[in-house]
Amino acid sequence: MTNILSYLTLINVINVHFYFVHGFRKSELDSSYNGLSYPFQYFTRDEWEADPPTNVRPLTKPVPYVVIHHTYIPSACNTTEKCFRAMRSMQNYHNSLGWGDIGYNYCVGSMGDVFEGRGWNNVGVHAGRANNFSIGICLIGDWRVATPPEPMLETTKKLISVGVENGSISPVYKLVGHKQTMTTECPGSALANIISTWDHYTKEILKF
Ligand SMILES: [Zn+2]
Repeated sequence: MTNILSYLTLINVINVHFYFVHGFRKSELDSSYNGLSYPFQYFTRDEWEADPPTNVRPLTKPVPYVVIHHTYIPSACNTTEKCFRAMRSMQNYHNSLGWGDIGYNYCVGSMGDVFEGRGWNNVGVHAGRANNFSIGICLIGDWRVATPPEPMLETTKKLISVGVENGSISPVYKLVGHKQTMTTECPGSALANIISTWDHYTKEILKF
């Protein structure tokens, strides 16, 4: 009898663990904002097995700018596993530069999945002095010549809308590419051309 009870207790513990780690957190906490589900597939830092950040500074919100990036390296990822690997490799590289975490606030994969970086509440390291005034979104891949897939572009727009709705991004935000904040090719010519047609895009060169 005792053995059966222990066995049942163990099964329960495993179920509760599964519920919290694999069920509850993903479906009801981390994948939501203001009580609503994200309108795209969303993966938390825990899910891509991020190391804890060592440099965390609160972002003053709402921010007036959204800065768009590509990675160049790593290349585009079109499966969850490949994108997880890309996230980990970026975090390792950015940590090696002394940035204390992955630089971007969020990253987007080719399938239109979002991967949590520093999130809505923390200052990123992605655009020099613009870091303090922006959310940095990285479209994983090399978008100098190739055009990002449509789901990636659609999700990026939705992610910005979520940021506006949850009070992280100003409703009158300005959208720029990384190269408008410093000397760089990022986010690549093909992607830069695309975002230049989006709402809120400004040609402005940011100087702080
Ligand atoms: Zn960039």
